[in-house]
Amino acid sequence: MYRTHNCGQLRITDAGSEVTLSGWVQTIRDKGFMMWIDLRDRYGVTQLIFTEENTGADLFEAARKLGREFVIQVSGKVIERSSKNDKIPTGDIEIEVQALQVLNAAKTPPFTIEDNTDGGDDLRMRYRYLDLRRANVQQNIIFRSQVAIETRKYLAEQGFIEVETPVLIKSTPEGARDFVVPSRMNPGEFYALPQSPQTFKQILMVSGFDKYFQIVKCFRDEDLRADRQPEFTQIDCEMSFVTQEEVLQTFEGLTRYLFQATKGITLPEFPRMNYDEAMQRYGSDKPDIRFGMTFTELNDLAKGHGFSVFDEAELVVGFCAEGQAEHYSNKDIKELTEWVKRPQIGAKGLVYIKLEADGSIKSSVGKFYSDEALQQWAAHFGAKAGDLLLILSGEAEKTRKQLGELRLEMGRRMGLMQANDFKPLWVVDFPLLEWDETAERFFAMHHPFTSPKKHDIARMLDGDFETMKSLRADAYDLVINGVEIGGGSIRIHDRALQEKNFKLLGFTQEQAESQFGFLLGAFEFGAPPHGGIAFGFDRLCAVMSGQKSIRDFIAFPKNNQGRDMMIDAPSPIAGEQMDELYLQSTWTPGS
Ligand code: ASP
Repeated sequence: MYRTHNCGQLRITDAGSEVTLSGWVQTIRDKGFMMWIDLRDRYGVTQLIFTEENTGADLFEAARKLGREFVIQVSGKVIERSSKNDKIPTGDIEIEVQALQVLNAAKTPPFTIEDNTDGGDDLRMRYRYLDLRRANVQQNIIFRSQVAIETRKYLAEQGFIEVETPVLIKSTPEGARDFVVPSRMNPGEFYALPQSPQTFKQILMVSGFDKYFQIVKCFRDEDLRADRQPEFTQIDCEMSFVTQEEVLQTFEGLTRYLFQATKGITLPEFPRMNYDEAMQRYGSDKPDIRFGMTFTELNDLAKGHGFSVFDEAELVVGFCAEGQAEHYSNKDIKELTEWVKRPQIGAKGLVYIKLEADGSIKSSVGKFYSDEALQQWAAHFGAKAGDLLLILSGEAEKTRKQLGELRLEMGRRMGLMQANDFKPLWVVDFPLLEWDETAERFFAMHHPFTSPKKHDIARMLDGDFETMKSLRADAYDLVINGVEIGGGSIRIHDRALQEKNFKLLGFTQEQAESQFGFLLGAFEFGAPPHGGIAFGFDRLCAVMSGQKSIRDFIAFPKNNQGRDMMIDAPSPIAGEQMDELYLQSTWTPGS
């Protein structure tokens, strides 16, 4: 038997018992006549004590040859420690070792196996198996497992059926870029890896499965941004005979349950906010509502006073940073102005109004507006002495987004984004279509299968171009702390309406037929009304843990170049393999 207990298990009440433990050598403290070793496994750390007297000279010498990360087995007696460690659950005891066996030696690891390791990103990813030994990384992966198990419990309890959908499917140009897989048996033809099981889960509804879910890998060949992975996991769901309201209730229930079951946290209400309001008040379709600083529009007060920047702007809008006047010297304001002018934000400038504690007013636009006028602005903001008003102007949509970024930055600086404060909300009533100026075409704001609101169907079927821009969808996003956890929609289940949508999105009839003919066909055989949602599972785990990076919740993530550093993928394939797949290489690796 390798072990009677694990390394996180023994307590003072076990003192006197004979035990056997197995694990990894975490640290060695050698005092010459006495030696301590911290033995680690995924359950914790237990201190071992070796003395020449109790352990015997041979064993003592053998113990001296151990190194970090050796895998060992020890037997001995649990004794009370003379100097206790109240930071770990096993801190009251140690094991007086009487037998030692080296199960496997280890090279010195290239970085320390500690929460705060000295290993850089690349090194840790190359030796991910060592990185995964670190307790904090292990906790993330264990937490992920708990969330997955609880998800299955909850959804099963609600009558959902888990169905696996295929990984080798057909490539469709809509959405992100597909990863493709050549088919050996069908020369010159390719499968695609699914960006999501969207069409399959809708087909399952046509088949009558009624409530489907799957914790499923999805693949998107996008340029990788900080928090994206080419393969990621969704909690994917679909339901029949439901309205938007029932979908929201079900997944609000799931979210509440997951926070309660895995973290003991009771979430507050999930307010609903429509898309237009989110954009107008927060400059974002995923507002962080842990704090206020909502927007105040100033067109009426700001325009027509000879300040051309405002006069020419479509929108003048700002927010009030409470109590910040004294914290922002001219130099700080200048720095903040540079911040909004960075290309990532793209504002042309920043206007401020400082309501000094003594009642005086200081502003970068003081030349154009009297103190009385600026007081009026302050009143409009609901601001008081000590507050700082920050204002941007320009084209409406862009300006709102820029101000949204500034709001988040101020929230961060003011310490208003507490990691363990969770504020969920539903953003609803998204536009159905989004006009892309450059491509000169409509894109589906959610995806092409999303239904317009019932009252918009008639307008969609015979409206003009402007009408199309105003159509609203039964589409919704769950947002927690400014992060989009997931989104979904009620779907179109009628062939004619789906065809119309494809047409609006620029598909010819032939393209729609060749890519989605199976779905259009299925709609003709009694498709029930249906809708669903998918949560980004990696992201959900990160947000629930109050962390930013989804990578830390994926056992084997890819780096920013989409590479797996441990197995070194992607990699070239052999010439014969290329031939077998009818792939002709016009590109030599490394060229
Ligand atoms: N398939 C969608 C997505 O991946 C989610 C949904 O509409 O259910 O975003």
